[in-house]
Amino acid sequence: MAKTNKGRKDLDSYNIKGTNKTVRAGDCVLMRPSDSDKPPYVARVEKIEADHRNNVKVKVRWYYRPEESMGGRRQFHGAKELFLSDHYDVQSAHTIEGKCVVHSFKNYTKLENVGAEDYFCRFEYKAATGGFTPDRVAVYCKCEMPYNPDDLMVQCEGCKDWFHPTCMGMTIEQAKKLEHFLCSDCSSEDDGKPSMNGFPVSPISEPKMVSYKTAGLPTLDFQGSI
Ligand SMILES: [Zn+2]
Ligand SMILES: [Zn+2]
Repeated sequence: MAKTNKGRKDLDSYNIKGTNKTVRAGDCVLMRPSDSDKPPYVARVEKIEADHRNNVKVKVRWYYRPEESMGGRRQFHGAKELFLSDHYDVQSAHTIEGKCVVHSFKNYTKLENVGAEDYFCRFEYKAATGGFTPDRVAVYCKCEMPYNPDDLMVQCEGCKDWFHPTCMGMTIEQAKKLEHFLCSDCSSEDDGKPSMNGFPVSPISEPKMVSYKTAGLPTLDFQGSI
């Protein structure tokens, strides 16, 4: 434990009050919002320290929810999506109410079950400018939408692109029963095995990339509110 000249000392860990959970630097935590109607804030703990009166403080790096970002929540954002921001803060450790896991996008899509404490992050977010990294995103289907892991997509055996069942005139139930799928643009060759409800980890053809800012936005002038 290194002592600093202001009487603060670094702590290796902090036990969340009323739980048996231990928080260490690098862990992701849920922090109690001042407005109890709101969902908890999510942050990554960078450092834990105690002052000379033994008040424990945590230096955190905030995750933003899509609705807290410039541009707001969009159709392709998953319910459990977070953006790792460049916004740091020092908070009392008492506001930590639990731990959570922020998965990489790829790992999140492989989860068998998504628990309450599971989140994912595929973009970093600059709070001051509203900029996203990466600033381009792959789009799929006729609707040219980035992949939302909450929505089932089926892969065409011909062109290997991924499609929303509803965009192909199918229900989700019909799509789940499909053994083979060919999109409307592809011919009726039907060799190969279907792969469903997965994400192309190493896609055969490169997916189309578009700017984050315009991804999945309607291109028609007339469009109802989403
Ligand atoms: Zn679609
Ligand atoms: Zn196709």
